[in-house]
This record gives sequence, structure tokens and C-alpha cells, in this order.
Amino acid sequence: MDRSSERSSPQSPGAARPVRTVLGEIPYESLGITDAHNHVWIDPIPGADPAAPVLDQYDKIKEELKLYRSAGGGSLLDCQPGGCGRNANKLAQISRATGVHIIACTGFHRKRYYSPEAWLFTTRPEQASEYFLQELTSALEETKEQPEPVRAGFIKVALESAWNDSPLCALEGAAEAATQTGCLVEVHTEKGGLAEKAAIFFEGAGIAPKQLVLCHMDKRPDFGLHMELARFGALLEYDTFYRPKYEPETKLWPLIKKMAEAGLSNQLALATDMAEAEMYATIGNGPGLASLPTEIKLKLIKIGIQENSIRQMLGGNIARRLAGLD
Ligand SMILES: [Zn+2]
Repeated sequence: MDRSSERSSPQSPGAARPVRTVLGEIPYESLGITDAHNHVWIDPIPGADPAAPVLDQYDKIKEELKLYRSAGGGSLLDCQPGGCGRNANKLAQISRATGVHIIACTGFHRKRYYSPEAWLFTTRPEQASEYFLQELTSALEETKEQPEPVRAGFIKVALESAWNDSPLCALEGAAEAATQTGCLVEVHTEKGGLAEKAAIFFEGAGIAPKQLVLCHMDKRPDFGLHMELARFGALLEYDTFYRPKYEPETKLWPLIKKMAEAGLSNQLALATDMAEAEMYATIGNGPGLASLPTEIKLKLIKIGIQENSIRQMLGGNIARRLAGLD
């Protein structure tokens, strides 16, 4: 590589950025099997929806991640932003104890997961983007005083069911921060709703399609729509493997197969999104985080997905996107 391109900005086309984990930067090639959307720690939030999930049993969570690691899991994206239960000090402690790379986020979740006084939902776009940029480039709020502050590796945003109920100023702030940094934006959709609207909004705000991950899309298993969004360039995240109400056998699995057959396995990212403690093997006797590198991987092989496509869906795609590549 010539020196001039080494010196150029990390956003120069084609140059891979290191991935920012809670313990520092690593090359994207070392992420291994990566859960594209999960939850490792959620502190209880006074005043939030009492039904909001809580994940705060350190020893059991540590055990869960050890199981994930020994089953072949390498990394995961923690999708709990600040203010609604994120605790990056715990994330760093757990990562250190288990060897699992954890990538933390800035951004915002649905309003119901916050205390009623949360400032982010009534703020101006400039203030929101300043906060996100601070967390991406300097330190996550709760780690500011630490000798080794943790930085965010991506932005997570959440849409409500209706566009007009979604916090537009915070969305604009997130778009601005993503445009400035080139970072990945994971978009929570309500059961896949408004995904096309989100794609148009973020494209209009100057974000490259490769920066977008549209989450929970398999709850809306419309093959035509998925093909269109994938061809647009967004990554589609699927995670209903253990959610019987979404009928994964007849919806999710055939969708994965069809997307792979259409040559779009490079646009999919699989995850298990186990925010609920009962989904954890160590806490609730659920399928657990280790299901991704074991049961899910085996079934991908069984239904005839090619090895290379499996690698892409189980981490390759999200790793490249975190590194700013297509
Ligand atoms: Zn989630």
C-alpha cells in the first residue's frame, strides 16, 4: 500500500477502518461469527415501561457469553444505547472475562424504554448529533471518567410504528453524525414497518446505503421488498429464529433460502436479539446466544446454503459494514 493512502482519511473509498469494540480497535477480519443484533446488559430504568427488559445478572451473563464463545461465537453488536440501560463498563468487564468482542452503540431506542425526562426526545438535531459524535469519537457517557474510556462502534436508532411518532430531531442528529463519521446505523423497525421510508430518509440525509442495517425485517417477510432494499444496498437483519409467533419455519427460513438463491446473501445479517432474560440459556433456560454458531448455523448448512454465504450472514457482512466496506 502506498504511504499517501495510509495517511488519507479513514473514509477514503475502499479503505477498511478498524472496528471499535469496547476493549479497543480490531481489524474487521478478526470478528469471526458475529451476532448482528443482541443485548448483553440492560440496567433497570426508573420511570420506563415496567415491561422493559432488564439484563443485569453479571455471573449468568458472563457464563452465557462463555458458552457463545466456546460454541464458536466471536463477536456481537450490543444494541442498547445510552440512557435506556446501556452500561459500557459492564460490557467491557464481560468482554474481558469471556474473550467475546462486544461492539457498543450510541443512538436511541424506543421512547418507552426511557424515563419520562429523557432529553433526547425533545432536543434539537444539532444537540443530538453532538452527543452521538462525542460517544463515537471520544467516550460513551458512563465511561468518560475511566482511564480507558469506551467508544461507540455504531449508531442504533429506533422507529416507532408511525413515522410521525418517531423522534425526527434525534433521527436527523443520527444522520448527521453518521454522515460525518461514515459509521454504521442500525435501524430498529417495528416489525419491518417504515423500512422503505427509513431508507429514503437516510439516503436523503447523505448516508450511503452500505451504512444502513434495517433490523427485524423478517417480521415482514415480503420477498419483493427485501430484494429491493437489498439491491438498494442496505443490510437486512433477521432475528425471529426463536420467536414462534412469527412462524420462522414457514417465513424466516424460506426467506433466507430465497434471498440466498437470488444472490443476495451478501445483504443479510443474522442475529438472535435476546433482550429478554428468558431467552438466555443461563438465566431462563432459553435457546441462548450460543444458538447462532450452533443450531442456526447447522440448519443453514442443512437447507443447502453455501459455505461462503453462511460466513457472510453469520458475521462477514456486518464486519465489513462496520469497517466501512460494501
Ligand atoms: Zn434489540
